[in-house]
Amino acid sequence: ASLQALDATVPASNRVQSRAEPSSPSAVSGFHNEPDTDPAIAVNRAWGRRVLERSVSSTLGAGSIAAARVSDEATLEARIASTLAAADRWAALPSAERAQILHDAGDVLAAFRGRLIEVMASETGKTIAEGDVEVSEAVDFARYYAARSLELDSIAGARFVPSRLVVVTPPWNFPVAIPAGSVLAALASGSGVIIKPAGLAKRSGAVMVEALWEAGVPRDLLTLVDLEERELGRELVSHPAVDRVILTGGWETAELFRSFRPDLPLLAETSGKNAIIVTPSADLDLAAADVVRSAFGHAGQKCSAASLVILVGSVAKSERFRRQLIDSVGTLRVGLPQDPLSQMGPIIEPAHGKLLRALTTLEEGESWLVKPRQLDDTGALWSPGVREGVAPHSDFHLTEFFGPVLGIMTADNLTEALELQNASAYGLTAGIHSLDADEVSQWLENVDAGNLYVNRGITGAIVQRQPFGGWKRSTVGPGAKAGGPNYLMTLGSWEPRAAEY
Ligand code: GLU
Repeated sequence: ASLQALDATVPASNRVQSRAEPSSPSAVSGFHNEPDTDPAIAVNRAWGRRVLERSVSSTLGAGSIAAARVSDEATLEARIASTLAAADRWAALPSAERAQILHDAGDVLAAFRGRLIEVMASETGKTIAEGDVEVSEAVDFARYYAARSLELDSIAGARFVPSRLVVVTPPWNFPVAIPAGSVLAALASGSGVIIKPAGLAKRSGAVMVEALWEAGVPRDLLTLVDLEERELGRELVSHPAVDRVILTGGWETAELFRSFRPDLPLLAETSGKNAIIVTPSADLDLAAADVVRSAFGHAGQKCSAASLVILVGSVAKSERFRRQLIDSVGTLRVGLPQDPLSQMGPIIEPAHGKLLRALTTLEEGESWLVKPRQLDDTGALWSPGVREGVAPHSDFHLTEFFGPVLGIMTADNLTEALELQNASAYGLTAGIHSLDADEVSQWLENVDAGNLYVNRGITGAIVQRQPFGGWKRSTVGPGAKAGGPNYLMTLGSWEPRAAEY
């Protein structure tokens, strides 16, 4: 086969692996995570280059977005009505039939790998590696929730009643994996869905939806909307026919949604201010690498990103650790995603507001270990920065900035480090690097966050292995984690079932 033949969809190595997947969603025990594209294989790199070339002038998804435009209330009402009607037909299907369609959606998403990476690079500046893992996660959500949905019928003593209508409002930072996860969960639970993609990543959401339609999810069951005005957003979120709203976004957006409708059944994953503790017992080489990856993956634009590293005791004075941070941050290659060597892409918009402040202004007692630099005229391409001397309860300690800046704090001992780590109002991810079992158990007992990582980076949760969700101000709603066993159950309601003998 010529290279051209491999052009369209999936790199050759992944296609071979996909064939080994089970073809039906028989049981969660048969679930395997979809492999990412291996860039060590030359043919994959050639494929990746073509995907990135296409991303320069990509218009993927534009047609679907144009068709999804809603500019007045009557049109919105009509979309809600048609989704409800389709939801009733969907709920009436045998659950095995629904699960098969969603399982197949995993295969179609896998076949859309190139298209999805192309549109993400074009729209959000994601590097190929960042886009690639996102596609794998979307595939995982399809197969995992399909398998999980089969269990909803067999819970003793209670009958699961699906919602009719779930509204999904995803963020721009994971414009494929997060909407895919929310939409697939809602569909797997038997509900209809209206999805409004993030304003800065509409086409990425649309291409993900196209994959699901192609797999057989009815177009009126999964309704894509692009709302012309903010007021229509309020209309949709507060509509009485809406049974659940799944929001991933800032805490302020969750507050706004709740102001629209006080009894809003909201499931939200919101902001984070996440730290990694490094103790003297840690493998410092590993710790430095994990801190840098967690802080600067997708230019720090992850709710899960490490925004702080807390150095305990002698690590705070370790010249070697500082050197490692300076070297590895200073040599990160920043560039547009179209350059396959870029390790960190641009931020989504020109830096402004609090992020610009974090990139340019120090607080009292702070100094730059690595000073961020603006690399071009757009205001969106910045080299990563590291600030030292972040003071307890300072702005940088407690505020989420969502960009490529890491702060260093110090603590005399683990107890003090935990206080600093727990001080934030949020509680999304948290990490420790320590090879001392007692330290690790002290940490596990006392840390307040939804996702805990020991001797590993703190981003990149993996479906089934590390279900993802927050604590404190990082979550709203029942708190079941995405990609975990309980998520679907929170999307419907439960009725007592008469005992069967
Ligand atoms: N699930 C992603 C991760 O584990 C983070 C999602 C987010 O930033 O909202 O890195």
